[in-house]
Amino acid sequence: MQKITMKVPLVEMDGDEMTRILWQMIKDELLLPFIDLKTEYYDLGLPCRDETDDRVTVDAAEAIKKYGVGVKCATITPNPARVEEYHLKQMYKSPNGTLRAILDGTVFRTPILAKGIEPCVRNWEKPITVARHAYGDVYKNAEIRVPGKGEAKLVFTSSDGSVTEQKIFDFEGAGVVQGMYNLDSSIRSFARSCFSYALSVREDLWFATKDTISKTYDRVFKEMFEQVYEEEYKEKFAAAGITYFYTLIDDAVARIMKSAGGIVWACKNYDGDVFSDMLSSAFGSLAMMTSVLVSPDGCYEYEAAHGTVQRHYYKHLKGEETSTNSVATIYAWTGALRKRGELDNLPELVRFADLLEKAVLTTIESGTMTGDLARITSLPDPVTVSSLGFIKAVREQLEKML
Ligand code: NAP
Ligand code: MG
Repeated sequence: MQKITMKVPLVEMDGDEMTRILWQMIKDELLLPFIDLKTEYYDLGLPCRDETDDRVTVDAAEAIKKYGVGVKCATITPNPARVEEYHLKQMYKSPNGTLRAILDGTVFRTPILAKGIEPCVRNWEKPITVARHAYGDVYKNAEIRVPGKGEAKLVFTSSDGSVTEQKIFDFEGAGVVQGMYNLDSSIRSFARSCFSYALSVREDLWFATKDTISKTYDRVFKEMFEQVYEEEYKEKFAAAGITYFYTLIDDAVARIMKSAGGIVWACKNYDGDVFSDMLSSAFGSLAMMTSVLVSPDGCYEYEAAHGTVQRHYYKHLKGEETSTNSVATIYAWTGALRKRGELDNLPELVRFADLLEKAVLTTIESGTMTGDLARITSLPDPVTVSSLGFIKAVREQLEKML
């Protein structure tokens, strides 16, 4: 077979620990034999971030802005223990946080469904993607422990000196009070990312707030989504045969539980925090959850939702066999390659991405899987394989399909 050629490079971001080991296996076994892989390589592994004072993360983000598509391996977010373990010069910020800040993006998390790994909710036949607005609200709040009797007010002093104020509450005794904010620009970016992502996967978009109670704050969210939809996406949605649906958050939750899936669900910051964890555990396994950061101007960064699987890495270092699930990391690659294929008009690359995903699912559905899935599968007599064993089984399946 002739290798598939690429036109524009992918921004490849290597990472840490067990996922760094999987990364190389995936390239060696599933990509390089079939694709004339073009990447611009950034090593986001902790030693290289330390050597470059984290410049490499910023450079990678700039490269994604330039080329439009990146694929990232899981990375360590340093804590005090890691600073000691890696003798770091400083406690660097989360690389994902840095990328998100530069790309101004929204993160979409989607579970990978395979027969035999059943969601807890029987009627979820298709994946549900959660998009979380990762800015403001309670995550950037100011709060006061009220000691006793007194008046709490919300005060805004404009730069021209004019003052708007509103009473919150007359306290008769001790209590608590909180102030929070968001920005038009951030809400609008979030809306754009959600509409353009739903369009790219051709799925309905749902959004929900509590605007009946929060008549100003949440209403701004509702109205901004409506405005972006009417002005920029209504016709594109109609052409793609998908719809935008707004409802109240409690109604959305009730409907999600009854739905068949196949939806992109845009959530405010707190709702997204809560519901993304609920959905990922209900769909089966964190190791089967993909994640893509989409910027409002249409740049895409694909990765697995899980971390570097540290416990397995230490086993690997001791020379013991591991059975780490590489599915979400493989899907990060297929997502990125498919997007590159679509943008560069390379149908063979899109087809390869589709086939590789099919090979992964066929392997699992025929009973060959890593330990994490073997423990939860409804299939009879699953065969548990090692990290490399699984990837080799996928390769065998892929070669048959090609
Ligand atoms: P983790 O790497 O997601 O692993 C937590 C546990 O979940 C593992 O010990 C393992 O359970 C199971 N697991 C996760 N992924 C798996 C896979 N692919 N195959 C099989 N089992 C899997 O989370 P963590 O241990 O809390 O974090 C480790 C490091 O990852 C931290 O330094 C953190 O900063 C980083 N992290 C990075 C990202 C990212 O780059 N996006 C996200 C989260 C965390 P068992 O041990 O029971 O087998
Ligand atoms: Mg959370």
